[in-house]
Amino acid sequence: MSDFKVTVLGNGSAVPTAHQHPSSQIVKMTDMQLMIDCGEGTQMQMIKYGIKHRNLDHIFISHLHGDHYFGIFGLISTFHLFGRDTPLHLYAPSELKDLIGHQLRVSHTTLRFPLIFHSLEETGNKPLLVHKNYRVTTFPLFHRMPTWGIKISMKNEDLRIDKGFVASFNPTIEQILKIKKGEDFKSEKGVLFKNEEITLPPKPALSYVYCSDTAFNESLIQYLENATLLYHEATFDNTMEEMAAEKQHSTSEQAAQIAKQSNVGKLLLGHYSARFEDLSALLTQAQSIFPETLLSEEGKTYEIGI
Ligand SMILES: [Zn+2]
Repeated sequence: MSDFKVTVLGNGSAVPTAHQHPSSQIVKMTDMQLMIDCGEGTQMQMIKYGIKHRNLDHIFISHLHGDHYFGIFGLISTFHLFGRDTPLHLYAPSELKDLIGHQLRVSHTTLRFPLIFHSLEETGNKPLLVHKNYRVTTFPLFHRMPTWGIKISMKNEDLRIDKGFVASFNPTIEQILKIKKGEDFKSEKGVLFKNEEITLPPKPALSYVYCSDTAFNESLIQYLENATLLYHEATFDNTMEEMAAEKQHSTSEQAAQIAKQSNVGKLLLGHYSARFEDLSALLTQAQSIFPETLLSEEGKTYEIGI
């Protein structure tokens, strides 16, 4: 498995059921974990599925409907009780800062660790995180209140070297690294090879996009385009298009439609309404438009790769 993957901790919508927890997931990269949404029960799901606190320094909350953040109070409290002393970055709508501040005041709690709040309203087009290996950005969704989607893109700027050239000229590791960065190569006999003669463009960068909650809107395509894996809500099935529009959610077919138009690699459905005992109709409807669709399952980890 690659070191870029997502574990789904909760994929239900507003009301929990015996089988579905509200939204939360963990995106794992080489040296960090990023939590996306923190619905009620997220801590218990973390314990159940072996998610450690280590390297969990960044939490993103998409919007302030309770099924996306009611778990944050408990998680912050547990970090405090476990003696955490490293900073926790919370990226969320600005009103969450007041709610957390109030909860800490009434419980007479002074956190042992720095809680660094980043208001999504102020982020604008700036990336949330820029790392040497990845970049995290947000974009607006279409819901009943201000709501943000999130995109995590791995950076891949290294050129690929022509295999025939490597076999013929046997460059050293040091030379290979330089060629991958764009330098020319001089053979032992003094023949100069221009970089463009011996390299191919970099592999396409892997990316993961999370869209929950949102209505169908083609203006999202610019953010979703060519994503390796798209998690998209499918709160309703195709018979409920009117209700989806009214509540600013999507049907399974609409999730598939936006995935198709955005040319994503794979689509992972989630945010299922509690009314569905059987999710197979959602899958069939989506696959009829976009065959590379999967139903997300709680506790399951999905590789973000080819
Ligand atoms: Zn919502």
